[in-house]
Amino acid sequence: MRPETLSDDREVQNYVDGSWHTPSSADGQPVENPATGEELAYLPFSDDDDLDEAVAAGNDAFEEWRHTAVEDRIQPLFRLKELLDENIDEMAELLVTEHGKTLAEARGEIRRGIQNVEVACGIPSMMQAGNLPNAAPEIDETAVREPLGTFVGITPFNFPAMISLWFLPHAVATGNSFILKPSEQDPLITQRIFELVDQAGFPDGVVQLVHGGPDTVNAMLEHDGIEGISFVGSTPIARHIYETAAANGKRVQAQGGAKNHIIVTESADIDYAAEKTVSSACACAGERCLSNDVMVVEESVYDEFAEALAEKTREQTVGYGLDDGVDIGAIISDDHLETVRSYIESGVEEGAELLVDGRNVTVDDYDGTFIGPTLFGEVTPDMTIAREEHFGPIMGLTRAEDFDEAVDIVNQSEFGNAASLFTDSGHKANRFKHEVEAGNLGVNLGTAAPMAFFSFGGRKDSFFGDLHAQGQDMINFYTDKMSYIERWPNQ
Ligand code: NAD
Repeated sequence: MRPETLSDDREVQNYVDGSWHTPSSADGQPVENPATGEELAYLPFSDDDDLDEAVAAGNDAFEEWRHTAVEDRIQPLFRLKELLDENIDEMAELLVTEHGKTLAEARGEIRRGIQNVEVACGIPSMMQAGNLPNAAPEIDETAVREPLGTFVGITPFNFPAMISLWFLPHAVATGNSFILKPSEQDPLITQRIFELVDQAGFPDGVVQLVHGGPDTVNAMLEHDGIEGISFVGSTPIARHIYETAAANGKRVQAQGGAKNHIIVTESADIDYAAEKTVSSACACAGERCLSNDVMVVEESVYDEFAEALAEKTREQTVGYGLDDGVDIGAIISDDHLETVRSYIESGVEEGAELLVDGRNVTVDDYDGTFIGPTLFGEVTPDMTIAREEHFGPIMGLTRAEDFDEAVDIVNQSEFGNAASLFTDSGHKANRFKHEVEAGNLGVNLGTAAPMAFFSFGGRKDSFFGDLHAQGQDMINFYTDKMSYIERWPNQ
């Protein structure tokens, strides 16, 4: 099914200096519906000249935008929020067709993106930096936040709408210009967001869209006209972005990959924990940085939890995300499907117990990149599926003698994005909060996703930098604090 907003032979466009341009590089790639294989559009990449034009337009626009009254800066954001709300259903359909997730997941993603726009509309309060009369004899001192220039956001395929909106609203509300380089795998939803940006009435050059692949990103990391980089993607690329952008004198925040755990204690509500675990691990076909896919279970309830989890896993329906009743949609691409399959093979080869096998799932009428939810028991911390991010609907159960051992197993991970705990014990919940080394922690919930007004944590190899996405960290990242010190001696 092709969304009505998508015309035939569509070529994806850059949005630079207030108008649409075809990216100039000879490189590019098709955009396909992973559930049907249909080619939806073609994405040409940008070359160095395209990038230079966007950076020049961003820096020109910045000179006026930085001095624009903050009340005026947030008016286009209010309009953008209204436009996103009005168009959410049609946008969610578009997102399903290029990404593969379900319609409910796509709506939820866009809604969380809109919440970030709503938060950025509060910049007149959030950007205040404080002052102190009589900081010294006869001296009043004021802290001021200044915008810095043109920032770039580089985003991953798995939440193309939401993650673009983690950055764009805060960067421009604080008085900067912003260029988005979305994932080349699903660029259509960001193009649609920019059609609404165009209607929202930002001055030309303040918000721009530049498509491309790794070459475009690498040119951004070295470009003299770019002040800072907000990145979200896999750990090896996040590390590369952090090191290269910093070596080129830029501010950088780089969120990386993940491997998240759930601890189930003997006092947990087992059925509830199993239900929330499946939705955490299998939503968006497991393509989530907050997906908790290793369950570390106290020995006394391991068998009971394994049985409940296997039952819930078998209840999941795999299919085309636009169809009713589908829980798990398509995987983003053939290549990634092969990667997910190879992780299942590794689980079998390394001796885990295959409790639910999703490899042979078929979906009537569609020949897409589908794989069923897969559950392994007897997973040990050294196994590949226990250590590496597979980004598919694969779950592993690990035994822990007690809570101390469970926490140790979780903290052995190189990653530290998220973790959840199911328990009835306040004491264990308190220890979990203080002892588990991950940035987003949930108690009695499957997925620890912070609301837009809280920072989105991440530690160890899941994050490179100091200031996270969302919340007050965004204001600190996109501004520089200066001090204004006054003395007016009596005449
Ligand atoms: P990716 O790292 O392949 O791509 C992310 C971005 O980097 C894209 O825009 C891409 O064009 C660019 N890129 C890719 N290879 C590059 C290279 N060699 N040089 C320069 N730029 C390059 O990630 P993905 O597969 O699109 O997204 C999935 C990953 O993102 C997972 O690891 C997931 O955990 C992570 N993620 C993390 C968070 C978080 O908050 N920590 C949130 C969402 C996704």
